[in-house]
Parts: sequence; structure tokens; C-alpha cells
Amino acid sequence: MDLNAKQWRALEAICDTFAPGADGVPSATEMGVPQVLWEAVAMNPREAERKQVAQLLSLWDTRVLTALGGGGLGRFSELEPERRERVLLSWCDSRLPQRRAAFQALRKGALLFYYMVPGANGRSPVWDQIGYAGPLGKNPEAPPKALRPLTVDRDTTLECDVCVVGSGAGGGTAAGVLAAAGLDVVVLESGDYYDDEDFDGGELEGYGRMYMYGGGAATHDQSVGLLAGSCLGGGTTVNYTTSFRTPDDVREEWAAQGVPAFESQEYGRSLDAVCERLGVNQEHNSPSMREEMLQRGLTALGWHSDFMPRNVRGCDQGENCGYCGYGCRLGAKQSVVKTWLADAHAAGTRILVKTYAERVVAEGGSARGVEARTADGHRVSVRARAVVAACGAIHTPALLRRSGLQNANIGKHLRLHPATVVWGVYDQDVRPWEGTMQAIYSDQHRFLDDGYGVKYETAAIHPSLLVVFSPWRGSREHARMMEALPSSVPIGVLLRDRDGGEVRVDRDGNPIVRYRLSDYDVGHVRRGVDGAAEIHEAAGAQRIFSSHSRDVSYAPGRDGSRARFAADADACGWDAGHCTYGSFHIMGSARMGGSPETSACNPRGETWEVRDLYVCDASAFPTASGVNPMISIESIAHMNASGIADALR
Ligand SMILES: Cc1cc2nc3c(=O)[nH]c(=O)nc-3n(C[C@H](O)[C@H](O)[C@H](O)COP(=O)(O)OP(=O)(O)OC[C@H]3O[C@@H](n4cnc5c(N)ncnc54)[C@H](O)[C@@H]3O)c2cc1C
Ligand code: SF4
Repeated sequence: MDLNAKQWRALEAICDTFAPGADGVPSATEMGVPQVLWEAVAMNPREAERKQVAQLLSLWDTRVLTALGGGGLGRFSELEPERRERVLLSWCDSRLPQRRAAFQALRKGALLFYYMVPGANGRSPVWDQIGYAGPLGKNPEAPPKALRPLTVDRDTTLECDVCVVGSGAGGGTAAGVLAAAGLDVVVLESGDYYDDEDFDGGELEGYGRMYMYGGGAATHDQSVGLLAGSCLGGGTTVNYTTSFRTPDDVREEWAAQGVPAFESQEYGRSLDAVCERLGVNQEHNSPSMREEMLQRGLTALGWHSDFMPRNVRGCDQGENCGYCGYGCRLGAKQSVVKTWLADAHAAGTRILVKTYAERVVAEGGSARGVEARTADGHRVSVRARAVVAACGAIHTPALLRRSGLQNANIGKHLRLHPATVVWGVYDQDVRPWEGTMQAIYSDQHRFLDDGYGVKYETAAIHPSLLVVFSPWRGSREHARMMEALPSSVPIGVLLRDRDGGEVRVDRDGNPIVRYRLSDYDVGHVRRGVDGAAEIHEAAGAQRIFSSHSRDVSYAPGRDGSRARFAADADACGWDAGHCTYGSFHIMGSARMGGSPETSACNPRGETWEVRDLYVCDASAFPTASGVNPMISIESIAHMNASGIADALR
């Protein structure tokens, strides 16, 4: 689908209103943003959503829509910049959630690409304007790729003991365990294989190649952005290496859902085995400049802080590290590609990349294989004695539904650990894109109520994350905010959500995510945002602002107060389009439990409906893990895969 001239004019006018450029800095259109943005829309597998965007662009530049947005009688593209901004802000502040959602999608699309597109000579003038260092480039000393995925250049049938669908934290671990038990394993991964030699720290390529839908996935109302890896290794290739074991209180809660193994030595042994294989340690925790600010605030307040356990070996904790989210150029990150999948590959496992599993084939009530298709359109039929679904908590329920499973809990109980950010701007350069990815954290408010609350963490910040988690109230204010990037520090407020959302599938079998924060969970976010502001204030931030759609900010001791900040945040609101949330932890949508009435899988991870079909990824969590989930996912996969191996041997 291509756009007509009218739609292009609308898209260019929108992009240039968000980012008009000035003083020799090019505008969004001059940077080629509309083209890249439209290419990104085309990556959305949901036809209905692609059509919606095209329809909006058809209407956007009409007099009626401009007048409705308070722009007067002209067409949007003919208005002077201030009036165009007013029109956009009328969408931002609309009482209608659909209009707010459209604004947020346009804002993120236009501005993200504006700051990510590298430009003609590979170095965007926009980066110089905001003082951003830009990508590191490839590591000339990176070793060649170690794994050899199977080449499929025609319709193919494979036979094996177990077909593992998805190669992320769960699938990669399951493959390693099953292969070590002597089983013949085939892994199907829809993304491609990238390794040390491919990583250059560029945001555009990083998101485009290795993240689900190019990093542009979100809940249906745009209320939560959804980040997940979609490449060999899944999230473990791009994640931030934080490696918490499942906390005891969470293990207890999970056991009470009908899976006693979570409190047993069996799960404890899986946790140990995973931490051992990933080399989890607390010896790579030299705080970056931005974490020194976090530490300073926590110390001044006398609040809890500790070092992050991390799955790294030889992590340089320096300039490279802030680029960890686009792959580790040094091979220090112990992703499943470096560990479990490497073990599986060495034991003979066949790995297929760019191969999308369409459905699981069942015969006589038991899983007997998988039907898949390569990116080039070749059919792949895998015959197997058992199937592991490990596509991540958005795609696993979709695969189960496409395969005809009916259990009402498939897709339900989705947890997202929605995270929002409170920003502090300091009177010194912190270059927040550099330094150890995540070295310290605080659990000061982890237990606000009945095991639920928030964690405080920070992460390296490149332009994209500042764009996503900050307000847009006009191009001048926005430019000032972006120019403060080198001295900005994020404190992430990571919610353990008690109440969940849902993954449904559309007519074509694509997942749609619905999620709304409950009042209970919003209460904890409010406390967390206030707590993060308190930390920044104690650390000496000059200005503090939130991720709301309006300007919710104060300058401690000079302009406003924390109480005012909290009141302004409440006045703006905490729901869709009013406060920005992102999810890096997607869980619980095909959960394990003690009964088919409350869960999708039995205590061994096998679906209640189809024998020999197991879930071994974050979907299997009975509730939110409350900590960054990778180690829990790998441990569940380790435990469930050990059970599968016992059953098949
Ligand atoms: C930027 C980022 C930072 C993070 N940082 C941390 C951290 O520091 N610590 C931590 O504990 N957690 C972190 N996480 C979360 C963690 O990485 C994920 O929770 C974890 O990887 C999820 O594991 P999974 O097995 O459920 O799915 P994934 O790892 O997402 O793997 C699923 C795989 O299945 C593939 N797939 C999907 N559908 C199909 C299909 N139909 N056919 C074939 N393949 C398919 C996908 O392409 C993907 O590769 C982070 C996540 C992100 C995105
Ligand atoms: S923090 Fe840096 S060196 Fe460490 S794993 Fe990440 S990118 Fe690699």
C-alpha cells in the first residue's frame, strides 16, 4: 500500500510540525522521516491498523478536520507553524482516548525517526545539535558468528524429537536443556541471527532488525509501548543484563496458584543451573555517571540500594555499555545465543531463522509438529514428538489460538510491569547514553501493599527513550528538552502490576494487546513517581519532570515543589495518552496453574488441552515476577524442559 499525494502532504506537514528544524538543522522531511515512518507502518502485520493510519492521513489535511482541531478554516498543511501546533495539541489533550492515541502514535513515530535516522553521511546533524555522541560503529575485532543456522531454500520437512518455537530466554534455554538430554531438537525463530560483528550501536538499525515490529509495538490504545526482542536469542540479545532470581515471596505466590514446584528444590535447582550457565555475578557494577546521581539521592535519603546481579563476562562497564540494548559488540552479554543455544547447536540442534511458526499440528489430542513459513515464503513442516511454545508472552497465546486451543485463560492475565520515567536535569554533563547498563537499583518501595509496589532502576538513555518518555508541548520547548539530553538522568519506576490485561487475536491470527492500569496499580505508580522525584531532588537535580503528556515539572527550591508536581501529575491523569508507559517485561498470558479453570497450562507447563505441547517462556508466569524476569523465564524453561526430557527419554 502506498500513499497518494494528499496523504504524503499530510504526513510531511505533521512530521514537520513536530520537528521543523531551525538554524541550519534540517526539518523532519529534509531528514527523510515521512518515508521511513511510512515504511515502519508497513511493517505492522495488522492490515486494519495500516488502513487506519492511511485513512487518518486522507482526512488530516481537510478543512473539516483542521477546524475540529481548532485550526480555523484553512487546511492543516497551509497553516502557520503555531496554529499547526495548536491542532496537534488539541489531539494530545482531547477527552477522546482514540484521538489521544492517534496523537501519541504520530508523536512517537515522527520524533523517534527524526532522532534515529542517521542521515546521508551516517552522522545526523540533529545529533550534533543535541550533543549526542551517536553510534559507536562496528567492532573490527569482533569474531565471526559461531552458529550456523540451517539454510532453507525450498519447501522442507524435518523430523525431530522436540520442535521449539521461539529462541528467546525461554526457547533458547529449553533447547539447551533438551539437547543436553540427548534429544534431537529443531528451533524455529521468526527473526534473523545477529551477533557481535553486526552490532554498531545504531538506534535505527538496532530497533529495525532486532525488536518486535521494529520497536513500534504498543497496546491497542497506545497506552503502553511494548518492547520485545525479535531475533535469534529474542530479548536476551538486546536486554540490559539484569539478572534477579525469582524472589521468595513471588515463588510462594506462584506455588499458591497450584504449582507447588515453585517453592520446591526442583525450581531452586533450575534457578541455580541458570545463574551458573549465565555466569550471573555482582562484579561488573561500576556505576555510570547517571547511576552516581541515583546513588547520591538514595544515600542522602537513607533509602535501600544494592548492586544488580548481571549475566556478563568481561563487560567493559564503559563507553560500549550504554549501547547494550542494540547488542553487545564485545560479546560480554551472556545471552542465550552465547550459552544455551550455543550448547544446543554444539549438540546438533538445527536452528532455523526467519521462519515463522503458523500453527502447532495436533493428532489424537497430542502435539505432533509445527507448520511454519520462511520469510522467503517456503513452507517448513516439522514432525515432532513434542512441541515447546516459546514465542514470548504476546505471540505464544496467538500461536496457541491459531492452533485451535480454546482454554479461556489463553491470552488472559497478561502482566507488563509498566514502567514510567521521572527525569532529572543536572548542572553537569552525565552523558546518559554511556556507562554500565544497569549497575544499581532500589527496592525502597517494592512492598507498598501485599507484595506489590515499584522498583527504581535507571538505564542508558539515547534520544529515542527521551523522546518516548517526555511531553511534546510545541517544537521550541521540545528542542530545549532534547538539547538537555547530555545532562538528563532517568529514574525508571517499574511497577509490579497486580491486575492484568489480555492478548486477543484478530481474524488473521495476529495478536492484539489490551491493557488498562487498574486504580490499585495506579496508586503504586503515583507513589513511585513521587519517590523518584524525591530521589532526584535529594541528588541535586535542577529541574525534574515526568512522562506526562502535559508539562508536569518543577525546579527544586526555585520554581514549584514536589507537592505541586504531584498535584499537576494527578490533574493530567494516569491513563492512556496522559502518562507514558513502556513495557520491557511481558508475562503471564498462558499461565501455569493448578486447574484449567484458572490457567492455560498444568504444573508441568503442558497445555491443559493438547498433550505434549508445553509453554516455556514468560507466558507461563502465574503472576508478575516483580523483578526483571529473564532469570525466572529461563528457570521455568529449564524446569519444564527437564520434565519434557524425562517424559520423552
Ligand atoms: C530492551 C529490553 C531490556 C530488557 N532488560 C532486561 C534485563 O536487564 N533483565 C531481565 O531480566 N529482563 C530484561 N528484559 C526482559 C527479557 O529480556 C524478556 O522478558 C525475555 O527475553 C522474554 O523471554 P521469552 O522467552 O518470553 O520471549 P523472547 O525472549 O521475547 O523470545 C521470543 C522469541 O520468539 C520469536 N517468535 C515470536 N513468534 C514467533 C513465531 N510465530 N515463530 C517463530 N518465532 C517466533 C521472537 O522473534 C523472539 O525471538 C528486557 C527486555 C527488553 C526488550
Ligand atoms: S553493558 Fe556493555 S559490555 Fe556489558 S554486556 Fe552490555 S554492551 Fe556488553
